[in-house]
This record gives sequence, C-alpha cells and structure tokens, in this order.
Amino acid sequence: MALKIIESCVNCFACEPVCPSKAIYEAKPHFKINARKCTECEDDFAEPQCASICPIEGAILDALGVPLNPPGSLTGIPPERMAEAMAELQAH
Ligand code: SF4
Ligand code: SF4
Repeated sequence: MALKIIESCVNCFACEPVCPSKAIYEAKPHFKINARKCTECEDDFAEPQCASICPIEGAILDALGVPLNPPGSLTGIPPERMAEAMAELQAH
C-alpha cells in the first residue's frame, strides 16, 4: 500500500527529507511518491511522516483516495464555515 501526492501539493519540500523509505521525489508539476518504495511508514512510525508534516490539506491521499489531512484538519476551520467566509469575501 502506498500514499499519493496530488496536484494541490505546493512543492514546499517538507515531506521529502522525513520519509524513512526515500519514496518521495521532486517531480513536475509537484512532488510524487514512488508507490513501490512507500511503506505507509508502517515499520517505522505510528503515523505517515509525509502527511504529518504536510501543511496543505488534501495534498496526500491514502491508497483508497482519502485525504490524510482532510479539509479543516489543519486550519481548524470547519469546511462549511470556510465556504461561508469565502462567499462573504466574494460578495464584497
Ligand atoms: S507514508 Fe511514509 S514511506 Fe510513504 S511516502 Fe509518506 S513518509 Fe514515505
Ligand atoms: S509536504 Fe505536502 S505540500 Fe509540501 S512537498 Fe510534500 S506533499 Fe507537497
């Protein structure tokens, strides 16, 4: 099983050095995970290290396509409140 980095990755370089399997590499247009190397950190850590350090919600998905840091998990702002705030901003 392997995790996946998707296009919302902002290429911040945070995850690459913390991967115990050296599975993360710089690529275009964003960092990627070598699925053959990724162990989901199972033998090394309780949590996937890349997702633990990634500052972008939704940038890393599990093998089923579920975000490890879902919307609101890092900002603490519930997704529905964020949507309201964005709508308010656009209205002004
Ligand atoms: S889950 Fe662990 S092994 Fe897989 S890419 Fe992330 S840090 Fe590397
Ligand atoms: S930590 Fe997240 S945003 Fe930064 S390079 Fe890795 S996947 Fe991309």
